[in-house]
Amino acid sequence: MFDPQQIRTHFPIFSHRPELIYLDNAATTQKPISVIRAISDFYEKENTNVHRGIYEMAASTSQKYEEVRQKTADFIGAAKKEEIVFTSGTTASINLVAQSFLIPRLETGDEVVISMMEHHVNLIPWQQACKLKGAKLVVAPINKAGELDLKIFKSLLSERTKLVAVTHVSNTLGTINPIGEILEMAHKRDIPVLVDGAQSAAHFDIDVEAWDVDFFVFSGHKMYGPTGVGILYGKEEHFTKMLPVHFGGNAIREVRFEETVFALPPRCFEPGTPNIAGVIGFGQAIDFVSSFDKKGVKYHLQRLTELATEKLQKVKGVKIVGTAKNKSPVISFTLGNVHPHDVATFLGAENIAVRAGHHCTQPLMDFYKIPGTSRISFAIYNTMEEVERMAIVIKEIQRFFNGR
Ligand code: PMP
Repeated sequence: MFDPQQIRTHFPIFSHRPELIYLDNAATTQKPISVIRAISDFYEKENTNVHRGIYEMAASTSQKYEEVRQKTADFIGAAKKEEIVFTSGTTASINLVAQSFLIPRLETGDEVVISMMEHHVNLIPWQQACKLKGAKLVVAPINKAGELDLKIFKSLLSERTKLVAVTHVSNTLGTINPIGEILEMAHKRDIPVLVDGAQSAAHFDIDVEAWDVDFFVFSGHKMYGPTGVGILYGKEEHFTKMLPVHFGGNAIREVRFEETVFALPPRCFEPGTPNIAGVIGFGQAIDFVSSFDKKGVKYHLQRLTELATEKLQKVKGVKIVGTAKNKSPVISFTLGNVHPHDVATFLGAENIAVRAGHHCTQPLMDFYKIPGTSRISFAIYNTMEEVERMAIVIKEIQRFFNGR
């Protein structure tokens, strides 16, 4: 039986702040005690660098670090741990692919296809790469509900397309994109595909090998792990052809003044001292997420989303932005002429944390002709009571601003 009250006991923040209603999980999730302990234990009891020392403690740290790489590979269904690169987050992962994979392959007249709903980080690196090389960024449109039109998407793919980069789940609309179909369409034309899993890694079944995805990226902090740790999954066939773009210690085989021989992937992509404690904490986050029945989690998040949608729709002036049939637990909305920042400030005064703004998707806001939205996003520890309370406060905000 899925019991959010019991799950809350894993999260110390809720005992420090019993009044907190945290509905900003798409920005970052709270951290369970197991993750926090793993990080503080590392610093307290076995702090060393990795891949350098040969004394017992250092060797043990290196081993633990590499065990998390294997755990990550297992978690997302990668064939080999060498297909996992630790980065500082989704942002760093996408930038690495742009610089190391795309730019060397991109030529004048080539195209990169993204969607209208991408987070800025799944847009700007490709846009800048295209500018640099005289290539074109092609944007696949969406309908008003926030769904991709797959027929149009298919028509945008051609022999000029050098990469497709799409999000699995939209952080603003909650839309779950049909990744399987997109991959099939792109692969029929031998186009590699990057999937941004920042909003899906925590609660979705990820199977990169079964999907045959070329690159899959996500952040630890949106799946109950620490900030500053992210993942770049890449197919071995791509990694072995990519050259590193960041250089430094620990990522090499041999260095002479004339020439450097780089280490094999993934090490060549991880120069310098990595976020060791973060990676160890991230390993605990994977254990934490894996300890729940995914179906139970999905059902719980769906119930929260349905209740919140139903309650919000009853408030005069509320317009939900993003009404895709297939939606994750993210709800963006506007409230008449009330500025989203006023909504978030008012909710904040009642200890209800939500995000307001453009959510790093400004072109998407332009499409809807709005400056921003207020956004509610759920995680496993949220409760139906919290949704009820949030809806009451939204109603109060509506009355306050509109006097009715
Ligand atoms: N992509 C999506 C869909 C996101 O929601 C986010 C975070 N809001 C990112 C990318 C960037 O993630 P990070 O800031 O952890 O690098």
